[in-house]
Amino acid sequence: MDGVKRDADQEEAAEERPAEENANRKERVLHTRVPAVLERELKRFADNLRVPVSNLVRTILEDAVNVAGAASENVEQRLKRAAHTMELEREKLKKRVQADPLEGVFAFQEVTLAQQVACAKCKKELPRGDHAHMGLTDVPARSFDQRVFVCDGCLPNE
Ligand SMILES: [Zn+2]
Repeated sequence: MDGVKRDADQEEAAEERPAEENANRKERVLHTRVPAVLERELKRFADNLRVPVSNLVRTILEDAVNVAGAASENVEQRLKRAAHTMELEREKLKKRVQADPLEGVFAFQEVTLAQQVACAKCKKELPRGDHAHMGLTDVPARSFDQRVFVCDGCLPNE
């Protein structure tokens, strides 16, 4: 009995030492079972993002823990939602490296600018009060800088 107790004490002490050295770097390896379909999704996302699956899972878990308010969700739902968020991040990333800034635009609407923007094609600054053409897409813009504007000269005319 005493031997077991001592072992437990030693284990505890061993665990606490690295924590004292650097509390933030205290890491543990977790093993868990996930449904095959979720594993495939995670691998696909990881491939898309070009990061190791373990990094992706860690990011997702950190994200899930941060969303403390959503207590009604189970872990799988959280993982799915976090993965969805990552998918959106990926889309944003893709948008940034896309060759054609007008991809997905199905129409242009002439607008009078209330804020300075840059033409999506020639990058020319278009001042407030100027006329520009706002690209309409099926993807709802989540922030102002996701919107696409072009100047008169860059308006596609075919
Ligand atoms: Zn332009």
